[in-house]
Amino acid sequence: MDNQNFTMPVYENDLLHSTLKKYFGFDSFRNQQEEIIRSVLDQKDCMVIMPTGGGKSICFQLPAVLLEGVTLVISPLIALMKDQVDGLRLNGIEAAYYNSSQEGPEQQQILEDVASSKLKLLYVAPESLKSLDPILRSRYISAIAIDEAHCISSWGHDFRPSYQQLSFLKASLPNTPIIALTATADKATRQDIMEQLGIPDAKQYLTSFDRKNIYLEVRPANDRVGQIMDFIAARPEQAGIIYCLSRKSTEQLQARLEQKGLKAHAYHAGLDFGERTQVQEDFIFDRVKVVCATVAFGMGIDKSNVRWVIHYNMPKNLEGYYQEIGRSGRDGSKARALLFHSYADVLQLRKFMVGAANEDLQMAKLDRMKQFSEASSCRRRILLSYFGELLETNCGNCDVCQNPPQFFDGTILAQKALSVMARLKEKEAMGTVIDVLRGSHNAHIMDKNYDSLPSYGIGKDVSWKDWQHYIIQLMDQGFCEIAFHEHNALRLTNFSKAVLFQGMKVQMSRPLLAKETPEARKETKSGPKKTGSLFERLRLLRLKLALEGNIPAYLIFSDATLKELEAERPLSENDFLSISGVGQRKMEVYGDAFISEIKAFMEEKDKGRKKSDTLMVTYGLYQDGLDVETIAQERNLKDTTIYSHLAQLYLQGKDVDLERFLAKGELEAIKKAHDVLEAPEGLKPYFEHLEEKIPYSSIRLALAIIEKEKQ
Ligand code: ADP
Ligand code: ZN
Repeated sequence: MDNQNFTMPVYENDLLHSTLKKYFGFDSFRNQQEEIIRSVLDQKDCMVIMPTGGGKSICFQLPAVLLEGVTLVISPLIALMKDQVDGLRLNGIEAAYYNSSQEGPEQQQILEDVASSKLKLLYVAPESLKSLDPILRSRYISAIAIDEAHCISSWGHDFRPSYQQLSFLKASLPNTPIIALTATADKATRQDIMEQLGIPDAKQYLTSFDRKNIYLEVRPANDRVGQIMDFIAARPEQAGIIYCLSRKSTEQLQARLEQKGLKAHAYHAGLDFGERTQVQEDFIFDRVKVVCATVAFGMGIDKSNVRWVIHYNMPKNLEGYYQEIGRSGRDGSKARALLFHSYADVLQLRKFMVGAANEDLQMAKLDRMKQFSEASSCRRRILLSYFGELLETNCGNCDVCQNPPQFFDGTILAQKALSVMARLKEKEAMGTVIDVLRGSHNAHIMDKNYDSLPSYGIGKDVSWKDWQHYIIQLMDQGFCEIAFHEHNALRLTNFSKAVLFQGMKVQMSRPLLAKETPEARKETKSGPKKTGSLFERLRLLRLKLALEGNIPAYLIFSDATLKELEAERPLSENDFLSISGVGQRKMEVYGDAFISEIKAFMEEKDKGRKKSDTLMVTYGLYQDGLDVETIAQERNLKDTTIYSHLAQLYLQGKDVDLERFLAKGELEAIKKAHDVLEAPEGLKPYFEHLEEKIPYSSIRLALAIIEKEKQ
């Protein structure tokens, strides 16, 4: 049956929601997922623009399940197709990939599976499309999804020549809906994509770019390695990516982290294919938690439990920054983006850009990046406004919102800095300006006799880093400027004269202390990493099952799903199925294992509680004034058990007088034995050492007293 003659069934709300739950485990659609899915089901072409992690896949995967035939998914990265296909199969959806890594018979089998309607989705690289010719018929193909669609446009940031041949698809399958997906918001690129794909009138779905769960933070780049070590120490179980500017710096950073005892991989385009695949796999499979990478790393990696992204260096522009931080927190759970702001990086990036074809544009973009880093108001508002989205209120989830800058009258500081610039005849860069302010004796200063300037050393009391912070603010506010073409010399402006000679006031903000935020500390204390917590046990179970199945752990359940399991503790299949992220198939495959783990956890808790209950009964009777023999009789327990309860209660800090049960001299004798025997294990060594004259119960009590004294 050709699609032209096929009357589309009406897709009821219920059907869409039940399919979402059954196959993907989710209760509700995000953003515009539902509208997009309806449009594909109505066989309309569309263009989906969603941020990384926004939830693009479901927009074509869910229709694929409902439509007759197979949905082709064009995807640029062969290495990652397997991952996506594994994920679909775990959800009970028949899927396969088709690429040049496969042998002839395997490829033949796939073509047959398409013809016999076995497959719902087929992932294919653009260069392999040609050999799919026998099935490129509208009776087989229900829809075509073009993932990372910006690769088709030379305007985009990741142009791939192999994508250019995709225009033939619309021509040969005019009635098959095409859904193009990208995270690139740029208008010109979008239009170009649609034109090249032959779908110029496709409806565009531009969803919010806000990724609310990602905490945004910028810190000055001093002692980056130390800061990174602290950052990771606060969340050792979490996976994250550290982006660096160059290949070399990924390797250097990786080596320095390893030196400090942190296992990490380096990743960049200079590695050979095998090495790159290895790093990706180790990361995806949680064998290594930290990767120091160039921006080449991460595209198409769907690992949903990347919990943080650090920018060791400043990115070139906000598009890049946003795409990279978007790789964290895809599961919707809390994630963090930490950017190190270094002035040296800005200068370095500018240097790269000089002479580039679109130099002005690149410089302007870098400038916006810099403004974002130096912001003194909500960072998310700045970021989203760059993408054309206006937030009405401050986000509350960025460093500026949580720790608003404290402003003060910085006029004197400004006057000092500006007068040094004037004395240096506006010919020196920031480093020398600060050296003169601080009265440094370095060679450059001495060679040039700057130590004889009247303003030499007038800013001794302010640290180097703080001066940098203040001078950057002066630049941002237009009180001085940088002459990029003259060795980055700092120059005065009309404004500076007003500060120096006309009493103009300057507001400045204090530098923030770079340290782990209170929130991070809270995470470490009460967060999921606590060993023995249910979350931790479920995480380990997930890891075990992943190893057994040779699949990445996050494909089984996301961190968000584990969190919900921890909170809800479902004990029946029905309750288990109500958890977000649990679909029909996963409940069948994994339900038992997870439910048993939750049960075991709760039983152990229960035992623990019973134990403390029995102690409290003894304590109650003791407080009533009963002696040990009577308590033992009353409770039908042995005397020794009651003594042991009393010792435990005493150690818990309860008001129990143990000495009253000891005969004269017993405590001293046992203390002595404790020293002589050097605190042996168990009670027997004491019993024997004391020639069996002191009963076990007394030894037990005395040891509790000794232990308490040490606390
Ligand atoms: P993108 O391709 O846009 O980067 P994905 O399609 O990989 O994003 O989705 C990101 C994450 O969000 C995945 O872990 C996915 O399971 C999850 N997700 C998608 N849609 C929903 C939804 N409606 N409810 C809950 N989680 C969702
Ligand atoms: Zn904010």
